[in-house]
Formats: sequence, structure tokens, C-alpha cells
Amino acid sequence: MKSLLAMGFIVSALILSSARRYDSAKVFRVKPQNEKQVNFLKNLPSIIQILEYICKPETDQKRGKYSKGVQHQLFPKHYLPLADINKKSSVFPPQQIDFWYPDSALHILSQMEVDFHVSADQAKYVETLLKQNGIPYEILFQNLQEDIEKQLDNERNSTSKYHYTKYNEWHQISAWTARIAKKYPKLVSRIKIGSTFENRPIYLLKIGKQRNAKKAIFMDCGIHAREWISPAFCQWFVKEATRTYGKDSNMTNILDNMNFYVVPLFNIDGYVWSWTQVLCTVSVDASKNPCEEIYCGSSPESEPETKAVTTFIRSHLFSIKAYLTIHSYSQMLLFPYGYTYEKTPNYKELNELAKGAAKAIASLYGKKYTYGTSAATIYPSSGCSDDWAYDQGIKYSFTFELRDKGRHGFLLPESEIKATCQEIILAVKFLANYILTKS
Ligand SMILES: [Zn+2]
Repeated sequence: MKSLLAMGFIVSALILSSARRYDSAKVFRVKPQNEKQVNFLKNLPSIIQILEYICKPETDQKRGKYSKGVQHQLFPKHYLPLADINKKSSVFPPQQIDFWYPDSALHILSQMEVDFHVSADQAKYVETLLKQNGIPYEILFQNLQEDIEKQLDNERNSTSKYHYTKYNEWHQISAWTARIAKKYPKLVSRIKIGSTFENRPIYLLKIGKQRNAKKAIFMDCGIHAREWISPAFCQWFVKEATRTYGKDSNMTNILDNMNFYVVPLFNIDGYVWSWTQVLCTVSVDASKNPCEEIYCGSSPESEPETKAVTTFIRSHLFSIKAYLTIHSYSQMLLFPYGYTYEKTPNYKELNELAKGAAKAIASLYGKKYTYGTSAATIYPSSGCSDDWAYDQGIKYSFTFELRDKGRHGFLLPESEIKATCQEIILAVKFLANYILTKS
């Protein structure tokens, strides 16, 4: 109990003692009703930049006719129509806004629920603009900092036991990969497949009874650093596989006949960085950090993490029948293609599988997961890893977007880890069973 208090104190002391980067920052959910409003949202980064420029006291003297017009748009009654502000905003180079969904302003469509995060200062402009222009919105997070802290809501205690219902830091996950391989030497082996940009080892856990099983499923977690529920799922999956092997006949059958290749954390450097943000122990300038919220790399496979994983997959194509990549949030099951509306030759089969997997998920807690091709279900975008895997010849390729639908967004509380992992494992087993029946 004493240690528990001590631990709690350390965490809060770290949070309280340093700059709280997200204090009063807000997350908006906006639903543009027409193309005009879509354009407005696409231009929002530039609009905010203009307003920040105008509203700074030191720029008072520099304000010209142009800025007055925009200022009117904001505060007095006679504000500019959207068309005007859209036109004017193109004068300023865009500033970054942290879009949560979709991941870039480019993908915004009419009637889409768009989630984005802005600072406390920016939030004032944004809210006024949305109101004045009649764009429906709600505020998902009033104070992002509080919700970042709230996601660590499961009790922390001092026992050395590994906690699967908590978000673990990389050093804990890394040590766990070694421990679990040691504990189940006949079932699990740990393979180092490369190193990250910051020279951290990238581990893969091979799970299965046969050394050279003819079939395998490759699964990666944590491609995107801030989707913490994703690596939590990979850890949960490995725990359940090892715990239930020999007890649960289905899991035993699966692991007797196929291997799982699990990368519990793909983007390790980004994940480590995201933890420093939450604990606020160091001041990091995000604009200089390669681990920004969405970092695409300078070219395909330019990053050492991607290189390590793609090299491994290419050299195991003879056995890998399915590729699963775990993300959050929005509760979706997606399959190729993402880069085109064209359907894959096995579209019907993939759609049936996704439907079955979604049904399996819903059977536990009733959570609804929508499914379909990435392009049709969300929006066309290139660079999806499930597309890449499919084009390598892996015909069963799926992206999972785990809980929730936006109420917590990326900040899913730890108290939801267990239920989320329980429902997803049903889908993974469903897919594994199907692949086993295929010759
Ligand atoms: Zn993601």
C-alpha cells in the first residue's frame, strides 16, 4: 500500500512539476454539412494562423485592411461569408492542426465526423468561427491534459506482476518479451528483427508448437505511437495464447497447426516519445521530433522499423497467409484496397470474413465494428500496410481499428483494455480458424 501511494505520488509529481502541454486544449468533433464547410475545415489551419497573427497585441500596428476584414469575421456582427475566408486563407501558408480523424485535412468529406485537437487559445477562435458559420460541432475534450492523465485509470501497485490491463512503457514491454519467451520455451521464441532509428531493438514473438508450420499469421501493433490500446492488445494476445494453450481446445488446435508472428510494438521510438508527453517529464519540441503524431517517413520503407518488418515478411511469404495490423480508433475492420476504389479479386471472401469477425466481436459486449475496404469505408489513402501485404501475395490482410468511436479517441482508459482485447481476440481466432480450414 505504501508503495502504491509512493508510485501515485511520483506520477502526479511529474505531471504537476512541469509544463502541462495540453492544459485546456480541446478536441472538437465537427460535422461539415456541405462542400463550403468542408473547405472551411480544410483551411482551418491557415485561418487560425491568420487570427493568431491579427489578435496578437504586438501586431496591432501592422494590421491592414485585409486583417480587419477577417477580424470582423470573428467578432462583430458583420462577418465575412465562408467563401471569402476560404479565399483569403490561401494567402497564408498552412499551419499544422492535430487531426485525430481523419488523419489529415485532405481527407475531410461532407457529413464526415471530423475530430481535431487545438490549443486552449486556438479553441476560442475555432468555437466562435464554428458558431458564426453554423457548422455543427461538439467538444469531445474540454481539457485534454486531464483526459491524458485519466487514461491511466487502473490501479498501480508495487507487485512485480506484469499488468496486461495497464499501458506499459517500452522498457517494461521489452523485458516482458524476454520473460514470456523464457517461461514458454516450447511455445514462444523471441527474434530481434532490427533496430529502430534510435537504436532500440525491434522484437518479434513467434508463437506456435511447430518450428516450421506451413501456415502463419503476421500481426503488428503500435505502428502509430499514440494508439496505446494497440500494443496493449498484442501483449494480451500473447498472454492469452500462452495461458490457454493446452486448456482451450480451439487455441490449442490453432497453435498446433500454425504460427503467429507478433510484433508487439512497431514504432518503439514514437511510443517512448508519446510516454514522455504524457508524463511531461521532459520538454520536447514536437516540431523537431521525427516521432510526430503522424509521421510518414521520407519514402516508402525509408524507416528502419518498416525495413525490418517488410524484410521479415518478405522472407516468410511462403508461410504467412494473413496479415493483421492493429490500430485505433473508430471500431472498424478494414481490408484492401485503401489506395483505390477497385476491389480485390477475393473481395467477396474478405468481406464475408470481415463480417464474421465483426460478428464475433459484437457477440461479447455488443460493440459494433463497421467493415469494408479502406477506400470505401473511410477514404482513399495510399501507404496502408494492409495494401502492401496484400500486394505481396498475402490474401487475407486486415486493419483493425479498435475502440472507441471518439468519446475517448486515442485516450482509451485502461479500464477498457480488458474488454477491448477480449472482443478482438475472438475476431483473431475466427480468422485463424478460417485460414486453417483453407488448404
Ligand atoms: Zn493507426
